[in-house]
Amino acid sequence: MISASTRVAGVIGDPVRHSLSPLLHNAAYRALGLDWVYVAFEVPAGRATAALDAAAALGLVGLSVTMPHKADAARRCDRLTAEAARLGAVNTVTVGPDGLLHGDSTDGEGFLRSLRAAGHDVAGARVLVLGAGGAARAVAAACAGAGATVTVAARRPDAARVAAETCGVQHAPWEARDGLAAAAAVVVNATPVGMAEPGTPLAPGAVGAGQVYVDLIYHPRETEMMVAAAAAGAEVVGGLGMLVHQAALQVERWTGRDAPLQPMRDAVERALAAR
Ligand code: NAP
Repeated sequence: MISASTRVAGVIGDPVRHSLSPLLHNAAYRALGLDWVYVAFEVPAGRATAALDAAAALGLVGLSVTMPHKADAARRCDRLTAEAARLGAVNTVTVGPDGLLHGDSTDGEGFLRSLRAAGHDVAGARVLVLGAGGAARAVAAACAGAGATVTVAARRPDAARVAAETCGVQHAPWEARDGLAAAAAVVVNATPVGMAEPGTPLAPGAVGAGQVYVDLIYHPRETEMMVAAAAAGAEVVGGLGMLVHQAALQVERWTGRDAPLQPMRDAVERALAAR
């Protein structure tokens, strides 16, 4: 029951009404027996700084940050982790007891944890990342940090170059992606191809036996490319694990305790099955 001592955390974004973060976090708080609640705040573009000032003034536990506020949040935070500073993007703000705001990016580590949970390690591996947006950058930087040799390919050459420079990795032309995929140990789709729009980001036969194909898309649970890669003998990982693990890392930052992964996963699986 919500009382005068209930603590509040939340997510800021726009749009945010479709967000699965409240389900993930509230499932975690329930399982941990915390008198906490997590809500979604629809904050329009340009208002992130005001929202973060309010979070400090109100003594919120912290905020998750999603589109379009990640860069503004990085500018407003008083301290940034090395990862958030490199990416110029924050998805996790922790409000300190002194009211100072600590910014972190848990997407990259969430990605690595989800791969490890599926039995894969990128250390020493050749990794191809498709796309140059926020998720691609987080994944590329995390894989490079974990000892992988990373190449970013994106349909806009300038975007690929800037992403690669930001993450300290290589970039390649979009047209070269099928050949690069065939030579990679791990291929990551960080484009929305296969979600809202149908199709595959690679030729369906570009990834096969002895390789890992990771799609960051979690709805649908299986994309057309995941089906094709699995049929060709590749090991396939969907985006749900990353979604759960990036939130689990936020729970850990805020509570100082291990996140209860299974209740979090169950909550989000139920919601996605109903969509
Ligand atoms: P974003 O910042 O908008 O970046 C999307 C990237 O994909 C851009 O490089 C974009 O290129 C490219 N792209 C878009 N449509 C394309 C197409 N038809 N062909 C080739 N490239 C295309 O998005 P994001 O936040 O990085 O998210 C990317 C994907 O990852 C989404 O599917 C999202 O749902 C997923 N994601 C999953 C998680 C998770 O936890 N599982 C977390 C974050 C994101 P342009 O710049 O040229 O448009």
